[in-house]
Amino acid sequence: MKILENIPIATLTTMRLGGPARYVIEVTAPEEIPEAFEFAAEKNLPVWIMGGGANTIGHDEGFDGVIILNRLHGIEILGEDKTQEMLLRGMGGEVWDDFVQFSAEQNYSGIEAMAAIPGTLGAAPVQNIGAYGQEIAEVLDSVEVYDAKEKKFKTLKPSDLQMGYRKSIFNQPENKGRYFIVAVTVRLKKGQLKPPFYTSLQRYVDEHQETDFSPKNIARMVTAVRKAKLPDPKQEASSGSFFKNVYLSDAEAAEAQAKGIEVWQKGATKNEENDASEDGDGSKADEEKSENVINSGWLIENAGLKGKTFHGMRVSDKAALVLINDSAKSYADLAKARAEIRKIVHDKYGYELAQEPVEIE
Ligand SMILES: Cc1cc2nc3c(=O)[nH]c(=O)nc-3n(C[C@H](O)[C@H](O)[C@H](O)COP(=O)(O)OP(=O)(O)OC[C@H]3O[C@@H](n4cnc5c(N)ncnc54)[C@H](O)[C@@H]3O)c2cc1C
Repeated sequence: MKILENIPIATLTTMRLGGPARYVIEVTAPEEIPEAFEFAAEKNLPVWIMGGGANTIGHDEGFDGVIILNRLHGIEILGEDKTQEMLLRGMGGEVWDDFVQFSAEQNYSGIEAMAAIPGTLGAAPVQNIGAYGQEIAEVLDSVEVYDAKEKKFKTLKPSDLQMGYRKSIFNQPENKGRYFIVAVTVRLKKGQLKPPFYTSLQRYVDEHQETDFSPKNIARMVTAVRKAKLPDPKQEASSGSFFKNVYLSDAEAAEAQAKGIEVWQKGATKNEENDASEDGDGSKADEEKSENVINSGWLIENAGLKGKTFHGMRVSDKAALVLINDSAKSYADLAKARAEIRKIVHDKYGYELAQEPVEIE
């Protein structure tokens, strides 16, 4: 177990903001996880769990606590059953895209449209990642966790997880710092996705006259489409989509449409150009939620903010939901930029934009 001290959070996150974390522990074996929590408990410090930092933002004052970094590696095929399904298990510190590529290589379908989402496998169930009509909730078989409250390892099933649009039990306030995701098992199927695909993927298919929709080729095409419109965390600092989409009741949707706002229905093709995730029809796992959705990127674009810079934070001109940190010097700059963008959108359309990335506190 490697214990580091005073590590800038900016270096651990793709938004590249945030002051020092008092301790950072990299865990590379499951038995180190209880030790890391024990270390924090002995010092009476809070714990923050992190993978690749692609959906996490640090504050300027840093974190007076212990960040536990998931660096557990390994991917294994647990078995194939009679219905042509494969159970694939990966350790939480695996790079998500490596896991996707591995499954595509085996010719199994279920996560290939989520290729190239930055971050780790262990973070994927936390906000129920999704892209191009797929989301992890649809294929989850089980999630192995260390439960720091009960001080034991457990296996949770999808029915325990309350997965919805960008949510699960893991990102609920009452569970903060409680579950460390050790490994994730997904259930994938032999087969392939069928056209029509989401707009920009379909456009790529048409332009390149693609006819091979095997998982491997879908993953390759999605990667190419994403590369053309989303910032590469190695080149440009961002957390992907900065705001969540807005979900509406039928009455609210009618009101929005009357004001000329584009509202799309679950299952329908939408203008997805502004979204990092292009999760399209929202979460399929979220049963109770309304089916009417406004792409917040549409609101930002139509408020005239695409390409504009606020305090060093640029609204991407390719995907308006994405804020790129060009030259923000601090979290305070980001907070000012966020407040101004929110105000402009609120003044024009009356919606409060909710933030997607989480903040270490
Ligand atoms: C350019 C870009 C594009 C993106 N596109 C998409 C997209 O298309 N779809 C989408 O859904 N998201 C997208 N994202 C967001 C991000 O990639 C995902 O949220 C991803 O799952 C974050 O993984 P991570 O390992 O970096 O998580 P982190 O930022 O490290 O953590 C995110 C959250 O998960 C928790 N967490 C992390 N690891 C564990 C663990 N092992 N156990 C328990 N809790 C844990 C953290 O405490 C935190 O609450 C994008 C981000 C970027 C920068």
